[in-house]
Amino acid sequence: MQIPEELIVFGRIYQVRNVSPVQSLEGILGAASYRDGTIYLDDEVDMALALSVLWHEAVHVAQQEIAGTIDEAQARWIALFVHTFLLNNPDILDCYRFGIDDAPFDDEDEE
Ligand SMILES: [Zn+2]
Repeated sequence: MQIPEELIVFGRIYQVRNVSPVQSLEGILGAASYRDGTIYLDDEVDMALALSVLWHEAVHVAQQEIAGTIDEAQARWIALFVHTFLLNNPDILDCYRFGIDDAPFDDEDEE
């Protein structure tokens, strides 16, 4: 199982690019470039941390989209909440994947 190379956030495709720790700033494991449509991810982190970082960066994209600015504290708690919620309730993911008849973006896949 690998982190996807692309993520869709609010209908926009973001490339997920690995960066080596040498390139990344100290203590920063990810970054979202709203302008470039890219989410950068430290390639040394394990899967659990990578997913948590992706949530954090996706929240930043959402904040930029909704509020036009980012809020670091808000991104931290939302990412931590969603990540631990999914870890503790993995069956929810199957409900999303297989339990919804009319997935909102199904039509776009058929174009
Ligand atoms: Zn942040």
